Amino acid sequence: MRGNSVTEQSRRQFIQSCLCFTLSGLSPTFVFLCTGCKKNEKSTSLPDVLEYEKKERLVVERAAKIDPNYEPAYLKLHRTGELKKRGEELWNIMESCKLCPRMCGFNRLAGKKGFCQATSKLFVASYHPHFGEERSLVGRGGSGAIFFSNCGLRCVFCINWEISQGGKGKLTSIEELAQMMLSLQKRGCHNINLVTPTHYSAHILLAVDIAAGKGLRLPLVYNTCGLERLEIIKMLDGIIDIYLPDFKYGDGKMAAKHLSAAATYPEITEQAILEMQRQVGVARPAKDGLMFRGLMIRHLVMPNRVAGTKEIIEWIAQNLPKDTYFNIMQQYTPTHKAFEYPEISRRITQEEFKEAVRWAKAAGLTNLDIQGWR
Ligand code: SF4
Repeated sequence: MRGNSVTEQSRRQFIQSCLCFTLSGLSPTFVFLCTGCKKNEKSTSLPDVLEYEKKERLVVERAAKIDPNYEPAYLKLHRTGELKKRGEELWNIMESCKLCPRMCGFNRLAGKKGFCQATSKLFVASYHPHFGEERSLVGRGGSGAIFFSNCGLRCVFCINWEISQGGKGKLTSIEELAQMMLSLQKRGCHNINLVTPTHYSAHILLAVDIAAGKGLRLPLVYNTCGLERLEIIKMLDGIIDIYLPDFKYGDGKMAAKHLSAAATYPEITEQAILEMQRQVGVARPAKDGLMFRGLMIRHLVMPNRVAGTKEIIEWIAQNLPKDTYFNIMQQYTPTHKAFEYPEISRRITQEEFKEAVRWAKAAGLTNLDIQGWR
């Protein structure tokens, strides 16, 4: 997910303050990912290993207690070989890339870069237990976030523009990505949270296939900016457990201005969200409050009503179940190029946030996440 959101607000802090901690306990294979933390490196001790094994066992046991039949969606397709096949199909699409609605057509396999600036080489900015996401994803062990470099949306207000638009990250193999997933499971995370996954969807499926063969059992969270191609989302059917799309803008004109000329963003996102809903349904937490499956929509309220919040709410109320999970976020902070656009060069007021909540309630939405609401 790019732009300004819960994930993004906290990503920078985590990169600065948690990367050292996160990587210090992992095997030397992954220490190369730590760019500025050499002083704090330490080897994994036996107590560390035992602690990780205990955490991993607890996560798996907890899921079994709530639903003995639970298993993440992708396992079935892994067993039949379909998961790998879909990963390979997505890989081949990169030859004339149409993985996202930009449909650049560049040959990423030959090293060409499209709008997102990604070739077929995978770059990962960081991975770690993340405690800044929605409560139902975080629990006690954290959401196992993997932050991918580059982005197909490139918002002018992106708080993590160094990663999304500057390409900051480390070259990572598919096998290493699979190991990252397994290490997050070992550390007690409750899910694998794929942040800005779209342009690396092929790599992700192939990595999940490897990780599933080595014991990965956590739900997959597809954490996206919302700019998704319907045909590609259809290829993820039976693989993703939780869709976590942003619905950033309901107004095409403003989207064109602030989301790098994505004038059709609202319509494209609507189609993608309908398909996500068809695949995973309404997000309902389990008995312990954690989410295992479903659609969770995020919307960041912007100053001066530029995001078209009311239109988005009305569309959700008319096209999705009324108990669709909807997170109304108030933490917009002008960053990056936002100061070049006077209408988004300030934070929102309390009244702007309250107005959004009132609209959602008036539209009959019943499953609102309104942290900060007073
Ligand atoms: S994923 Fe990147 S290269 Fe492929 S169509 Fe989208 S922006 Fe273009």
